[in-house]
Amino acid sequence: MQQGLRTELTRIALLAVALGIAGFFNGQVLLTLIVGGGLYMIWTLTKILRLYQWLEKGAKGLPPEATGVWGDISNQLYRLQKRNELAKINYRSLLKRLRKVTSALDEGLIILDAERCLDWWNPAAAHLLGLQEVDNRQPITNLIRSPIFVSFIQGGKFDLPLECPTSGNEQRILQFSARIFGDDELALVVQDVTRVRNLEDTRKDFVANISHELRTPLTVLTGYIETLQSIDQPELPPVWNKALAQMEQQATRMNLLTEDLMMLSRLESTPASTDETVQLCALIHPIIENAQDLSQGKHQISCTCEGSPSIAGNSKELHSAFANLTYNAVKHNPDGCDISIAINAGESTTTVAVKDNGCGIDPKHISRLTERFYRPDDGRSTQSGGTGLGLAIVKHVLIRHHGQLFIDSKLGHGSTFTCQFDHQRRTV
Ligand code: ADP
Repeated sequence: MQQGLRTELTRIALLAVALGIAGFFNGQVLLTLIVGGGLYMIWTLTKILRLYQWLEKGAKGLPPEATGVWGDISNQLYRLQKRNELAKINYRSLLKRLRKVTSALDEGLIILDAERCLDWWNPAAAHLLGLQEVDNRQPITNLIRSPIFVSFIQGGKFDLPLECPTSGNEQRILQFSARIFGDDELALVVQDVTRVRNLEDTRKDFVANISHELRTPLTVLTGYIETLQSIDQPELPPVWNKALAQMEQQATRMNLLTEDLMMLSRLESTPASTDETVQLCALIHPIIENAQDLSQGKHQISCTCEGSPSIAGNSKELHSAFANLTYNAVKHNPDGCDISIAINAGESTTTVAVKDNGCGIDPKHISRLTERFYRPDDGRSTQSGGTGLGLAIVKHVLIRHHGQLFIDSKLGHGSTFTCQFDHQRRTV
């Protein structure tokens, strides 16, 4: 039991005993008890009144002096009040720090309510989008009217960021990333990505130009190498024949490199055109014939294709992707391996899987295989005559066809490269 309550009960008991004794001596026990009890009530009421006044004044300063139950209640209220004040101070300083942090950010941060009206924004957002105090509570789509931005906000799918040029300054590109939180509110992060995009464009242009520019000197060199090789000069020292053969081999490799680089540049910089109906079985068959030539009968190559699956796409690009996967299975696996290509049109997806039972790939390399020039075993892969760009091309082709590449491989047991196309998006 609380100390105050105990004191109060003891006090009442002692008072009752004292009043009883006094009443016994003056012969008026009941009257004495009533008068004494009344006085105790008045004393208690004054304490309640003082406590009440203290509370009415906002419970500031120390609570009124009291003992017993009222002393306990005052103390508890005082402690509660102190804790509240401390929490308020902490909350205010946290809010101040949050404001400072969000003000220091280069990225704009905007909070939109469930109706997608502006609720709060940081100074960077005000600077990037020209927001002013009067815009508060305005729907964001009234302020940024670009159709792609409006459908981004209204579409409600925020897994990928949106890039859109600023109205009035088409050169400036802003990136919007959004996340829903709390009660269907939306946190919108705005970044100026103009510089990054310009740098990326410069890089793409550079790669495209250099690959294009290399073609002419390479054609001239290849021509001369072929001419020199065709001349029958028995007196030529054997070292010359070896040198010419190596020059031819390296020139072929450089030609392949420039072709692959130009293909990648095209895939990155031109808009995807996927309006052709591509019959997958018809597309795969010539690839298999070429793969058989490449293998020279050293691998068993088979294909299963049920029905006549087709997808909407670009046949040249798809040919390049499937050819890269099939030729890789030949180039990177030892003689005697089985290679199978399976085309399957399921209910929601169409898949093209290239499977081999060859050397397989260490799992630690799999996530990086589609990076340009990434090779788990550089020496062996270079010998196989590849450019290191094949899987990067496959990845880009699939992105342009809204497809995905899955790589499943076990060292020593072989690999399966599966291209998956979503019906809802692309199937004819
Ligand atoms: P490359 O021109 O070297 O073939 P890719 O980008 O096509 O370049 O492939 C990257 C690397 O992935 C290859 O160098 C090879 O080590 C590995 N690889 C690709 N396909 C296979 C496969 N079917 N079996 C084993 N390794 C493979």
